[in-house]
Amino acid sequence: MPARMDVMVGDITELSADAIVNAANSALMGGGGVDGAIHRAAGPVLAQACAEIRRRQGGCPVGAAVLTVGGNLPAGAVIHTVGPVWHGGGSNEAELLRQAYRSSLAIARDKQMHLVAFPNISTGVYGFPKELAADIAIAAVGEFLARYSWPERVIFVCFDRENARLYQARL
Ligand code: ADP
Repeated sequence: MPARMDVMVGDITELSADAIVNAANSALMGGGGVDGAIHRAAGPVLAQACAEIRRRQGGCPVGAAVLTVGGNLPAGAVIHTVGPVWHGGGSNEAELLRQAYRSSLAIARDKQMHLVAFPNISTGVYGFPKELAADIAIAAVGEFLARYSWPERVIFVCFDRENARLYQARL
């Protein structure tokens, strides 16, 4: 794995980073998985911030990202991105997943963040094959970091065993 990228196993809500990335849904309504965990740990201020974005721009399209405060999280902010639902691979899923990583990193770059942490976007309820998702995530982040000075570091926070194994094998 190229420099400036790390892997850890654990719960992303516990991480002190400039921002943690949320695998959100287009409505920014909170939900299960990492989204639910982030909303619970951040407190109601996060749902309020998401509601404000909904009022302003109707939500967040697949592949795009938006920034909110972090509420009670140790992280300073949350970058909400929406990964694609896996429909078998013929619906532009790979490119949309790449875009979700890039859009999140573009916000981190814009805000000159030092450290950003990603969960394994789309690999839970959205059903994206984990191996392909790991390849896409590492390539997309690697390309971005090679091009830009910000963010300085990216951590992939793997929660389930299979993702941990896949990312560690690529380290
Ligand atoms: P999606 O809808 O994008 O698939 P999920 O939340 O269902 O989102 O799953 C995305 C990934 O987040 C999964 O790999 C899951 O193991 C992981 N995950 C779930 N809870 C946490 C957490 N607290 N911290 C980090 N990753 C988590």
